[in-house]
Amino acid sequence: MTPTSGPSAVKPALGTEPDREHHDAIIIGAGFGGMGAGIQLDRLGIRDYVILDREDDLGGTWHVNHYPGLAVDIASVTYSYSFEPNPYWSRLFAPGAELKRYAQHVAEKYDLRRRMRFGTTVTGARWDDDAHHWAVHLAGGETLTATYLITATGFLSQPKKPDIDGVDDFAGKVIHSADWDHDYDLTGRRAAVIGTGATGVQLIPELATRVAELTVYQRTPIWVVPKLDGPIPRPLRRLFARLPITQRAARVANSALLEALTFTGVLHYRQARLGALGAELLARAHLRRQVKDPELRRKLTPRYSFGCKRPTFSNDYFPTFTRPHVHLETESIARIEPDGIVTADGRKTEIDTLVLATGFDLWETNFPAIEIIGREGRDLGKWWRDTRFQAYEGITVPHFPNLLSLNSPYAYTGLSYFWTIEAQMRHMERLFGELRRRGADTFEVTKEANDAFLARMTDDLADSVFYQGNCGPARSYYFNPHGEAALLRPATVLAGRREAGSFPLDDYTYAARHTETAG
Ligand code: NAP
Repeated sequence: MTPTSGPSAVKPALGTEPDREHHDAIIIGAGFGGMGAGIQLDRLGIRDYVILDREDDLGGTWHVNHYPGLAVDIASVTYSYSFEPNPYWSRLFAPGAELKRYAQHVAEKYDLRRRMRFGTTVTGARWDDDAHHWAVHLAGGETLTATYLITATGFLSQPKKPDIDGVDDFAGKVIHSADWDHDYDLTGRRAAVIGTGATGVQLIPELATRVAELTVYQRTPIWVVPKLDGPIPRPLRRLFARLPITQRAARVANSALLEALTFTGVLHYRQARLGALGAELLARAHLRRQVKDPELRRKLTPRYSFGCKRPTFSNDYFPTFTRPHVHLETESIARIEPDGIVTADGRKTEIDTLVLATGFDLWETNFPAIEIIGREGRDLGKWWRDTRFQAYEGITVPHFPNLLSLNSPYAYTGLSYFWTIEAQMRHMERLFGELRRRGADTFEVTKEANDAFLARMTDDLADSVFYQGNCGPARSYYFNPHGEAALLRPATVLAGRREAGSFPLDDYTYAARHTETAG
C-alpha cells in the first residue's frame, strides 16, 4: 500500500453542472465495506469523497441490528480489519454493541466521519457518458455527481417481511429483528418468532428468558454446532495491546481453521466431503447431548447437507426448546389473524407479540440495492436478472464505467466479511494505480474478462457442496432465483487476495476524459 498525500490524484469532471455538488467519489453505505473503501481512497490520495447512508449513524449491519442476544458469529480476532486490530474485545465472539463501538473507533481514527452524510437515501445512479461522471439521485430531489461511484450497501440490508396472509392485520406488536424496539416490554408476553436462521438462533434463547409463552415457527431447521465462546481474560487483552503480534497469531490460527472448513466442507465437497460430514456429525452430537426427546430432535434436524446454508454456533439454542413455556411449531403457517397465528392444520395460537426473524431480501431487491444505469442505458438489476448474476472479481461490471459494486455476485470470499473488504481494497489499489500510471480517469472492465471470470466461477463451483451436496431442502439464500449459488466466490481467502493484487491490467480499458486511450 503506498499512501499518497496532497491534492486528489484525479481531476474533477469536466462538464459538471455548477449547481450540482461534485466529488471525486461517492460511496453509498457507511458500514465496514464503505469505510474500508474510504480508507483506501485516502491512501490513494483521493480525498474528495462523501459517504452517504440512509441511516442516522454509521456501522451498517451493526448499527441497524441490536436485537437481544446479538453477537458476532466469527471470532472477533478475525472479524475486524487486519490493519486495525482491537485488543479490547471482551469475548471470543464479541457482542454486537462492541462491533458498533469498533466501527465508531475506525471512523474517528481514519477521519471518515466528516465525510459521512446520514439520513440520505440514494434512489438511483446514472452514468453520464458525455460528462464522464455518475449522477447520484437522492430522495428529496437533490442530485450529486462523482467521477467514481462505490456501492457498499451490504448483502443483508433490506429486511424481509414474510409474504404470509394477514401479516399486516396483526393487531399486537410486530418487531423485525433488524428494527428492534427496546422500549417494548416483553415481560409476560405471549410471543411468536417466525424464523430460525442465524438471527433466530441468537434471539430465541434471549426472548425465552423474558416472555411468558414463546412459540417458534420453524420452516427449515438449521445446523448448529457448539460455540467455543468465553470472556477474554484481562491479562490476555493487555498482552494483545502490548504485543500486537500475539493477537495477529491468534487471528492467523483462527482464520486458518475457518479456511480449512470452507475449503473442505463447502468449496471442495466433491473431493473432501469428510469435512462437511464431520461438521454434520458434530452438530448431530451437539443436538443429542442437549435434547433428550427424540421427536423434538427429529424436528430440529436439518435434511440438507451441512454448508448448503450458513450454519451457526450456539450452546443455548437447542436447550431453549426443552423449556416448558417454549413450543416448536413445524406445521406451516396458513395465515396470521389480528390475535394469533393459524397453521395449515387449522390450529390457532393466540399471541400478542410477533417477532420476525425472517432475514433479508437478497436477490429480490439487493442486487443492486438501488437502480444503477450504466453506459447506453443498461440497467444493472435488469441485466443481471435477464442474463446471469455476474461481476468481474466480484467488484466491476462491463458497461458500468467507474463503478465499484462491492456487494456483487461472487464477491464474498471466506467466512469473515473483512476478508472480502480487504481483497476489494487491494483491487482498488491496483486499479487506481494503473489509472494514475496511464494518466487516465475512467476504467471499465472488458466483456471478455468478465465472461472468462464468470465461466471460471461456474466451473469452480461445480465441486462445491452447492452442486454436489443435497441442498434442495435448504432454501438457502446462497442460491439466486436462477438456481445458481452466485453469492460466495469459490476460492480461498488467500487466492482471492492474491488475485486482487495481480489481476491482468488489460482486463480493463482506460480512458482520459474526452480523450479515449487504448486499453
Ligand atoms: P435467514 O438466515 O435468511 O433466516 C430467515 C428465517 O426466516 C429462516 O428460518 C426462514 O425460513 C424464515 N422465514 C422467512 N420467510 C418465512 C416465511 N414466509 N414463513 C416462514 N418462515 C420464513 O436470516 P437471518 O437469520 O437474519 O440471518 C441472515 C444472515 O445474517 C445469516 O446467515 C448470517 O450470515 C448473518 N447473521 C450474522 C449474525 C452474526 O454474525 N452475529 C447474526 C445473525 C445473522 P427458511 O429457511 O425456510 O426460508
